[in-house]
Amino acid sequence: MFHKIKKEELTWGESLGQGSFTKIFKGKREEYIDCDSHQMDVLLKVLDHTHRNYSESLFEAASIMSQISHKHLILVYGICAVNKDNIMVQEYVKHGALDIYLKKNKNKSRVNISWKLEVAKQLGYAMNFLEDKRIVHGNICAKNILLTREGDAMTGLPPFIKLSDPGISITILPIEGKLRIDRIPWVAPECIGNPRNLSLESDKWSFGTTLWEIFSPGDLPLNSLEPSQKLQFYQDYLRLPAPKWSELAHLINQCMAYQYSLRPCFRAIIRDLNRLITSDYELLSDLPPSEI
Ligand code: ATP
Ligand code: MG
Repeated sequence: MFHKIKKEELTWGESLGQGSFTKIFKGKREEYIDCDSHQMDVLLKVLDHTHRNYSESLFEAASIMSQISHKHLILVYGICAVNKDNIMVQEYVKHGALDIYLKKNKNKSRVNISWKLEVAKQLGYAMNFLEDKRIVHGNICAKNILLTREGDAMTGLPPFIKLSDPGISITILPIEGKLRIDRIPWVAPECIGNPRNLSLESDKWSFGTTLWEIFSPGDLPLNSLEPSQKLQFYQDYLRLPAPKWSELAHLINQCMAYQYSLRPCFRAIIRDLNRLITSDYELLSDLPPSEI
């Protein structure tokens, strides 16, 4: 169930590029409550015409996100259907996606190890909330983490993130198709052959990959591999290059256990994140920040 938004409520703004199946725009929504009108910035995700057959999955993503509320989850206002277009209308997040932000700011002192730990913990809180409610997200990655506030190391103001909607589910993507293989190594190995295996456990694998992304200097994991090599990576039970911070590497390994029953619950993951003391990291101070 999701709210239907009238096209008259929306004003279209600049294009912000595209997602895997969508074109993305900034916009404004004028909402009328009783006789009062209220204007807000919104993000408009228009499902590409070529992927029109995936609209049910877009509705499903909107529906899941509209039913839950948490400070680290994006607000989805609803769906607007105009002619043959389906548009997801959601909260506009000022600093955009974390993957791009990390890449752009990798040499900025603000984006230090405490900043990254804070982002990881906030994602952990959002995931713990979903796990308690037994809701599977299905598409956890740095691209789907949005940055509401950059934070300020000088005043001790932490960054603030929101997890975005899962978008089109892997369960409906063609079984041997590139779009599905592209989700390696975020998607758990048990979901590649059988996406019906998407579960709370597979979200833990994706969380592990996302931790790896957060602590790397803006690199995409397995970026240089061809689709067949990515498949082989899982078949050979390989692991991403371990970060030099051994406590972090251990946590990532636990989340990315090939045997899904061994992956820890998010309560335990948060506990481990809280135990990661940045001073341990600083002991590795002979390493440049790009070689955590
Ligand atoms: P996918 O389903 O694969 O996640 P998507 O349609 O959600 O695809 P993304 O690739 O996640 O699209 O997002 C594309 C870009 O749009 C992001 O890099 C980010 O810059 C911008 N963006 C997405 N959501 C928001 C938002 N709520 N506020 C501001 N910018 C956003
Ligand atoms: Mg997205």
